[in-house]
Amino acid sequence: MKIGFIGLGIMGKPMAKNLLKAGYEVCVNDFKQEAIDELVAAGATSAANNADVAKNVEVVITMVPNSPNVRAALLDENGIIDGATKDTVIIDMSSIDPVESKKISAELKEKKGIEMLDCPVSGGEPKAIDGTLSIMCGGKKEIFDKYKELLEAMGSSVVYVGEIGSGNVAKLANQMVVAANIGICAEAMTFAKKMGTDPELVYQAIRGGLAGSTVMDAKVPMMLEGNYNPGFRIDLHIKDLNNALNASHAINMPVPMTAHMMEVMQELKNHDEGSCDHDDIIRYYERMTGVSIVKGK
Ligand code: NAD
Repeated sequence: MKIGFIGLGIMGKPMAKNLLKAGYEVCVNDFKQEAIDELVAAGATSAANNADVAKNVEVVITMVPNSPNVRAALLDENGIIDGATKDTVIIDMSSIDPVESKKISAELKEKKGIEMLDCPVSGGEPKAIDGTLSIMCGGKKEIFDKYKELLEAMGSSVVYVGEIGSGNVAKLANQMVVAANIGICAEAMTFAKKMGTDPELVYQAIRGGLAGSTVMDAKVPMMLEGNYNPGFRIDLHIKDLNNALNASHAINMPVPMTAHMMEVMQELKNHDEGSCDHDDIIRYYERMTGVSIVKGK
């Protein structure tokens, strides 16, 4: 099966490589020539623009930063819609506003009869590389069933959530939980240090109990090392929380914990830390308390 792949960033590059490894023919495009070159060296073909990628492929996958980028890749001049036919299926794997996902899908349907799935991912670069992403999917069930195997070349958990937009609802729920979880891990570890107790030993003592989590195991060791290399950038998490706030306010639902974590992340952005990993939330606590949990400090 021939697949088009648009967006070869931190996530898209390894995902496209996994499609090649699984035996799919892949045609790619990105704004960055070096990313295209790397994929071509791995066995992909390339095309002049997004419209050309869409010609002669059955499915086009998009993996770009946010809603406006997805809209541009799909609907702008020389966008995917110009090269696609009514039989082309679009699978957007970017994390975007579910309200926008529904609108974009409706426009594709109206203009050319094109079907779309929204299938954002969780797991970050390491899981993108080893093909074990969690993929949450929205759209028509029969389209999902047809392309589940394709998605399984990139992820170890591929779950159908519901109609178009539902994949991004699940992703935003994920990002809300992750933000609050990192925040409370940073707060609790700083509390331990300020009380004169070794935060590393506190982490070891609690990680196997009810408070333990995948987030705790991924992020507290990074905080203790003072390692803020992304991983998942604060700027992208701000983008996700912004989408969560927009979507929840559109249905008149207050989301106070999400709003609080958004303000914490704005403080980090103010300190030019938008490109740091989201474990950088620990430095918000460091500035507030004057205490660092980094080992040896
Ligand atoms: P990135 O910024 O590294 O890569 C995005 C790529 O898309 C860039 O190379 C850019 O040049 C390209 N691009 C943008 N618009 C384009 C267009 N119109 N045509 C062609 N190329 C275009 O971003 P990323 O970290 O790979 O994230 C992609 C998506 O995955 C985001 O929605 C992000 O929230 C989500 N995500 C990221 C992670 C992570 O850990 N980085 C984890 C889960 C989900």
